[in-house]
This record gives sequence, C-alpha cells and structure tokens, in this order.
Amino acid sequence: MHAVRFHEHGDIDVLKYEEAPEPKIEANEVLVKVKACALNHLDLWLRQGVSDWKLPLPHIVGSDISGEVAEVGSHVKRVQAGERVLLCPGISCGQCEMCFKGLDSGCRGFTVFGVFVDGGYAEYVKSPEVNVIPIPSDLSFDEAAAVPLVFLTAWHMLFTRAQLKPGEDVLVIGAGSGVGSAAIQVAKSVGARVIATAGADWKLEKASALGADEVINHSRQSISGEVRRFTAKRGVDVIVEHVGAAVWNDCFNSLATYGRLVTCGATSGGEVKLNMQGLFGRQRTILGSFMGGKAELLGALKFIAEGKLRAVIDSAFPLQEAAAAQRKMESGEFFGKILLHP
Ligand SMILES: [Zn+2]
Repeated sequence: MHAVRFHEHGDIDVLKYEEAPEPKIEANEVLVKVKACALNHLDLWLRQGVSDWKLPLPHIVGSDISGEVAEVGSHVKRVQAGERVLLCPGISCGQCEMCFKGLDSGCRGFTVFGVFVDGGYAEYVKSPEVNVIPIPSDLSFDEAAAVPLVFLTAWHMLFTRAQLKPGEDVLVIGAGSGVGSAAIQVAKSVGARVIATAGADWKLEKASALGADEVINHSRQSISGEVRRFTAKRGVDVIVEHVGAAVWNDCFNSLATYGRLVTCGATSGGEVKLNMQGLFGRQRTILGSFMGGKAELLGALKFIAEGKLRAVIDSAFPLQEAAAAQRKMESGEFFGKILLHP
C-alpha cells in the first residue's frame, strides 16, 4: 500500500510518500480502507519527536480516521466488511479500573492511533474491533474523520472535568483550533453562553457562525479586560484552554468565583506562575484534561447525528501532499480540521 512515513524525527521533509507493507490483522482486529484522515497538532509533535516517547520507526501518524471495512478477523462479530466506519482514536486495555469507569485516557496502557501503533496517513489501517464505530446517519467520510479527537476532547473537558451547567459562561481560547471550534459548539449545545478568542477577525467571524455569543481578538484586545466587560466584572464560570503560558495570567484573572479552568495543552509553554490567594480566596479550580473515552465519543456522535454539533472542515489534501497539509497547520492559517485523502 501507499503511506506517508518518517524513518527519523525532524522537519517536514522527513515525511516520505512511499510503499509500505499492508497491515496484517489479528483475530480480534479489523482492516479499514482509509477514506479520510484528519490532522492534529499531535502529528507534528510526533514527527519532531516527543522526548519521553520512543516510537517504532519507520512510523505512520494520523489519529482521526474514517473509511470502509476491508476485512475482519475470525473473532470479530459486530463489524462487517463493506461497512462505513470511523475509528475511536483512543486504544486502551479494556480491563483495568479506569477502563471499567469509562475513563479510557486514564488507562496505563492508553495510546491513540498514530502514536505507538500506526495511524491513518496510509491506504489501510488496522484497528481493534472495539474501536470501530459505524458512521452515524448520512455523515460523509470527511465529516466522520473531522469529529473524533476534537469532539471527544471538548466533551471530556467541558462535561466530565469542568462539570459545565446550562446557563453558565464559558470562555474558549483559540476558536480556530480543532478543539476550540468543537468546544464552542459543545458548550452551546447545553445552553451555555460562549465567549471565544482568536488572533484574526476572519476566524472570529467563523466562531460567531458556530454560535459564539461574544468574541475577542486576542492579538489586539485584552482577554481579561473584554471578559470583565462582557460579564459585568463577574468573570466566566468555565475556561477551555490549550495554549498555556502565553494566556495563563489573562485566563486566571478571567475566572469568576468558583470558576473552573480546564486545560488540555500548553503549545506556548508549560511553565506558569500561580497566584495562590486568587486560587483559594476565589475558590477557583484548575483541571487537567487528556483526550477522552469511547463513551464520550458516542455521546458527541449522537449530537452530530441530530445536527446539534457539526464537523468543521478547513481543507483537504491528497495523501501524497501530507507535507503541504502539515505546513498549513504549522502556519496557523486554518479554521477547523485539515484532511488527507489516500
Ligand atoms: Zn485499561
């Protein structure tokens, strides 16, 4: 089959479109012919090399995958050849305490497609049967690939971690990112008021179209100043954050009393200062969040099928142009998901 692999870590030019062996399935696995694979920042970090993770090389990244079932193993009962499916990105052991609680990403054996197993930058990928989900309603392959990681992450952040309630005020940092565009919709779907930030006016227009009630251009406006204005100095109940150091103080100062800040990343740096008086005196909570579980993805997919949430797609590239697709992601000039078509 054709795949995009890297044999060493490095810049975009280590990505090679080449022949690779087709995956061989075990009895409990399914072979999927990939129709679309969405990019994530994770792909870029894996290509550059994550210090604590030793990846098998050569390696195929890609965590968000949709396609058609090509072949099923002898123990597979539920999934059939020819089905239109998407893959739940998180792979966990299925038999530990965390897995039993539905907290898949807390499993010690947790990984995702494209990390310690090959991912979707290829014509075929293999998956455990338990990760294979039928594509709901008339969703296209592109839409199905654009949903999983960002919606299950946003769902886990807002509901499981921050315990968002209807009517609360939510600040979403980085509306143009995959998680940001999903978080705006997930928060709106339960009747929250959403304030979204981005660094460009064209992104803010798109954020408003997705349902954001108020917007802040963080390249020329103060986030905490605008939040004070929008909330009559009260602050917001929940902040969805993945930028880290660059926005930390502004975010912390935007939290209402009893506010919760939930973060799933630190793209601008992970070392921050914490004002303890502001933490205990205002009874605020800081929450870490990492991906999410299969049950949360099924929850989001119900809303997707009903049209209450929708996949946000920026653009699509042929698989052999994966380097151009990653370059676009690095540039920041996108809104929603960037897709590859094998
Ligand atoms: Zn487990």
